[in-house]
Amino acid sequence: MFIHEMTIDECSGALKEMCLGRLACAQDNQPYVVPINFAFDDTYIYGFTTLGQKIEWTRSNPLVCFEVDRVVSHNEWMSIVVFGRYEELSDKPEFENARIRAHAYLQKRAMWWEPACISQEHREQPHSLTPIFFRIHIDKITGHRATFDKSHAGSKSLITEFGNIRCSLDHESLDSEQTGARQ
Ligand SMILES: Cc1cc2nc3c(=O)[nH]c(=O)nc-3n(C[C@H](O)[C@H](O)[C@H](O)COP(=O)(O)OP(=O)(O)OC[C@H]3O[C@@H](n4cnc5c(N)ncnc54)[C@H](O)[C@@H]3O)c2cc1C
Repeated sequence: MFIHEMTIDECSGALKEMCLGRLACAQDNQPYVVPINFAFDDTYIYGFTTLGQKIEWTRSNPLVCFEVDRVVSHNEWMSIVVFGRYEELSDKPEFENARIRAHAYLQKRAMWWEPACISQEHREQPHSLTPIFFRIHIDKITGHRATFDKSHAGSKSLITEFGNIRCSLDHESLDSEQTGARQ
């Protein structure tokens, strides 16, 4: 198996195709992660929810991590990790355009609102059913893609080859190793 670093364009393309991710937040050094549906417009990750633990936590600490992945087989998969900041799109006038945009992107998927509303049912104490649109500002994004063989790499760099003896996650050492091999 070969693991390749995805370019920003590859990461963006994959985020636009996918609709299920994992949102991680943290409070008092305790991480919390839940699956959510999302949409991506090339700049922001949009989501829709109702009040609950993840919103209470992200309101108090807006630093979040977001992950998506697609697994075809053990040797063929991709995953993207986003470091970013949660921002609630409240009904204040300054967020009106952003809310319209979030809604426009999210509603491309049928029943996009359902998980956020149905998740009320298991709660011991019912929270507000007020709809909450939010977006994630992306500070950093990385993507890794595994292929069965090197020829399907597509993207610029080979990171790691598992299954053989060589295994390096360090680009510089890999570069110098390759340069050395050519000398
Ligand atoms: C495929 C899929 C898509 C989803 N899409 C959305 C979406 O777009 N928007 C949305 O709001 N929700 C979505 N959900 C539900 C989401 O994962 C959360 O369960 C939900 O949002 C409630 O989260 P909360 O932090 O408000 O939890 P609360 O209702 O406050 O729950 C409190 C406790 O319940 C437990 N809990 C909460 N969620 C889960 C979970 N998923 N699995 C196991 N335990 C849990 C935790 O222990 C947590 O401490 C989706 C779920 C799935 C499986």
